[in-house]
Amino acid sequence: MSASGNRHNSQAPGKLFQFKLVLLGESAVGKSSLVLRFVKDQFDDYRESTIGAAFLTQTIALDENTTVKFEIWDTAGQERYKSLAPMYYRNANCAVVVYDITQPSSLEKAKSWVNELKRQADPNIVIALAGNKSDLSERRVIDTETAQNYAADAGLLFFETSAKKSTNVNELFTSIARKMPLDQLAANS
Ligand code: GDP
Repeated sequence: MSASGNRHNSQAPGKLFQFKLVLLGESAVGKSSLVLRFVKDQFDDYRESTIGAAFLTQTIALDENTTVKFEIWDTAGQERYKSLAPMYYRNANCAVVVYDITQPSSLEKAKSWVNELKRQADPNIVIALAGNKSDLSERRVIDTETAQNYAADAGLLFFETSAKKSTNVNELFTSIARKMPLDQLAANS
């Protein structure tokens, strides 16, 4: 087993823990692309809308006895669903708040999503901040340290990711899986 966890589509071994995960962030930061990379290991340069499904699932085998299954919702962060967002994140166990390292406004927007989650979501929610499009380093306007310091202060997991190049995408979701309070939960199987 790799240290970063192992994505599984087939039958999961051991105990299965299931969590609802929501993606939030400004439009076009790459939320759906991160999900597509994680779930299907694909990237589409020309994608315009969501995947079409209400949610997708993906499992990660943390070790031979423990599998985490994420039910992933990426619709909550879209502007047209904005008023419905609380419905999506209220019962979420974990959230990935995404910004685009080439768009200064997107980090500010990410911070406002984090604040909203801290005010309104489950107090035990695990939140990760993802600075996406790390492959576009020549267009970077948000430096790593600024975001990293903010994430540390706010108690968030932090990764710079590229859905396009598949950088840190599996690591992002695996580290969330490892942060979930598995020992306090009854397993589903
Ligand atoms: P969403 O609105 O946040 O779900 O964003 P999308 O996933 O639809 O992505 C918006 C645009 O950014 C699309 O044209 C994607 O191809 C592009 N994109 C997403 N992730 C990356 C990435 O990691 N690198 C680059 N270069 N482009 C990306």
